Amino acid sequence: MQAGALTGQGDGQGAAQAGGKPQYTQDQRALQQQQQRLLLLRHASACVAPKGSCPKARADAANRERLERQRKITMHMQLLAHAIHARQCDKQGCKVPGCDAMRQQMRAALKQQEEKDARRRQLMKSWYRERAQRARSAPKSGSAS
Ligand SMILES: [Zn+2]
Ligand SMILES: [Zn+2]
Repeated sequence: MQAGALTGQGDGQGAAQAGGKPQYTQDQRALQQQQQRLLLLRHASACVAPKGSCPKARADAANRERLERQRKITMHMQLLAHAIHARQCDKQGCKVPGCDAMRQQMRAALKQQEEKDARRRQLMKSWYRERAQRARSAPKSGSAS
């Protein structure tokens, strides 16, 4: 987090752009999207292309789709990072948002899974026992497995 860029020290913009991608704040990005939408609306009112075939509208739709996908990926990554953290974290009252809740959720899921496994093992055991008893009461020769 760069505090200097927000307070406007020196040539912050140039430095940010020289370092690679320009860093937009959330507000700037929202404003840009709003402007693009306005431009598109203005274009749409004057556009003579048949409905659905305007390249500008198509580009916008594709762009929005891409943004949406990116947003989902980011969200997923955050969730994943949280999950990884929550799995390793055992701090009571951890400062990471959602850590406690997620940890409890994961513990509950783990417990459920363990209970399920135990039940299945129990079932398998009784099934084997039954089969062994049946084999003992009616021994069959020749079909060894
Ligand atoms: Zn058009
Ligand atoms: Zn934590």
